Amino acid sequence: MTQLETLQKLISDFSEERDWTQFHNLKDLTIGLSTESNELLQLFRFKTNEECDAYYKAQPLKVQEELSDVFYYLLRIADLYHIDLEEALKKKMIQNEAKYPIDKVKGKNLKYNEYDK
Ligand SMILES: [Mg+2]
Repeated sequence: MTQLETLQKLISDFSEERDWTQFHNLKDLTIGLSTESNELLQLFRFKTNEECDAYYKAQPLKVQEELSDVFYYLLRIADLYHIDLEEALKKKMIQNEAKYPIDKVKGKNLKYNEYDK
């Protein structure tokens, strides 16, 4: 069992013990993923980069908890919808390599369709 599969089993057992799997459909899990991402974002709202770094130093567990919530939903969606996240990420990185050639984008933060303008 991979590390991701071990974590997915942990989440699955947690869910089954509470009879929550009935609520784990693609729509609601995706809403959960987005909601938790926004809870992470909320921690940094109205803060400068420096204030965000200081916040993380002062409250690392809050950031880690929200990241874990995001990870929970990501793993749960992948588990229930049979998505191999490792393979999916590798494929996406190959796409990103083609979309963002180093010689065109190095040191720039534009969107892929803004480089030729
Ligand atoms: Mg949360």
